[in-house]
Amino acid sequence: MNTEIITIGNELISGSVIDTNSSFLAERLLSIGIEVTRITSVGDNESDITDSLKSALQRSGVILVTGGLGPTPDDITAEVAAKTLGRKLVLNKEALNWVKGFFRKLGLEMSPNNEKQALIPERAELIMNPTGTACGFLALEKDKLIFFLPGVPKELVRMTDESILPILQREKGEGFQFKTTTLKVFGLGESKIAELIKDIVKKYEAVRIGFLPNYPENYIKITAKGLDYEETSAIVSTIGGEITNRLGEYIFGRDDQTLEGVVGDLLRKNGDTIAVAESCTGGLISHRLTNVPGSSDYMIRGIVAYSNQAKTDLLNVPASLIDESGAVSSRVAEKMAQGVRELGKTTLGLAVTGIAGPGGGTPEKPVGLVYISISDKKETAVKGYNFPGNRAQIRLAASQSALDLVRRYYLNKNGKNTQLPGH
Ligand code: ATP
Ligand code: MG
Repeated sequence: MNTEIITIGNELISGSVIDTNSSFLAERLLSIGIEVTRITSVGDNESDITDSLKSALQRSGVILVTGGLGPTPDDITAEVAAKTLGRKLVLNKEALNWVKGFFRKLGLEMSPNNEKQALIPERAELIMNPTGTACGFLALEKDKLIFFLPGVPKELVRMTDESILPILQREKGEGFQFKTTTLKVFGLGESKIAELIKDIVKKYEAVRIGFLPNYPENYIKITAKGLDYEETSAIVSTIGGEITNRLGEYIFGRDDQTLEGVVGDLLRKNGDTIAVAESCTGGLISHRLTNVPGSSDYMIRGIVAYSNQAKTDLLNVPASLIDESGAVSSRVAEKMAQGVRELGKTTLGLAVTGIAGPGGGTPEKPVGLVYISISDKKETAVKGYNFPGNRAQIRLAASQSALDLVRRYYLNKNGKNTQLPGH
């Protein structure tokens, strides 16, 4: 049974909004063993919506459509769906009560154009939207299922988990079970990873092992399919284990884990605290660390010391050292890390100084040169990097490498080998 997604909205095809609904839906469907075969985006115009629906109906047994269920005149999905399916558009009482109730709860008067949201094709089944006004609906066309869902990503999440997946699971009966896991790698390129694990990929030919670059990280996605969920999960876990053994600490996490989350867990587990001093990353490391809920347990302070003066005033980096070595130097990075650690009275100090470009490079100190230092009470380590790419990529790679340095600090402390076997 083929499954397709159609997302509707001018903003999607003009590029002003990224179509996150498709990737969300495709992932959730895969988690229950349904592989999406095609994703289409069209603008809010009748003939394109009609065309995409008609051709999807020829190919697929399940079609999920998002967007264009709102009250404004450009929202025409329900109307076009009715026409395409040769059905009348009828006022659904339950939907009308829902829209009215929604406004009442907010203490607002419902505007007449919101009534439009209660118009759905006849014989369609309403799908409640617990967080918005636009309900979705499910139209059965022969044995085909067509879901129409609102475009707002947040609303889609609840509706998918609470209504769509259970319906599809019921439909699917005792079909194949899928299990997938994603290993997250930093510090090895895609082709290097492929080379290092090519015998594992070959050994498990029936299992899909895909490579997904997500700069500056690389993901390895393992997807197995089988009739027995336990068995399928066991295969995925075996392969995950083999790849993890092979790539060692280049793998920093799995699935929903983030590098900042992993670093946070290490800090918390060790009862440690951290302070961060940033120059070229402009607060990106602090931002990433504090993106993690509960990070106040270990993240004590973040200082953006962009100018030389700030490095001296805020971090006690001697002005003479900056004159001598330059602001982008290993010695200044070390002083920044020590300074922020002492001032923050933390276990660790982390510091970054570099040239993000596009200007400011010299032959001795080119764009992309970044020094990162990590300091604890006993010692201070510093590492120089030459990151390729544009300003945004250099800043991102610098923040990533800094966080990875903290992760590796703990791995080394626990006596784990930092080298790849055989390298
Ligand atoms: P409503 O008008 O009731 O909010 P709707 O079904 O009409 O719902 P749209 O108007 O199409 O939805 O979109 C609502 C919001 O969701 C817009 O901000 C839109 O940019 C965003 N959106 C729509 N489709 C997608 C998508 N595929 N991916 C990410 N965002 C989307
Ligand atoms: Mg729209």
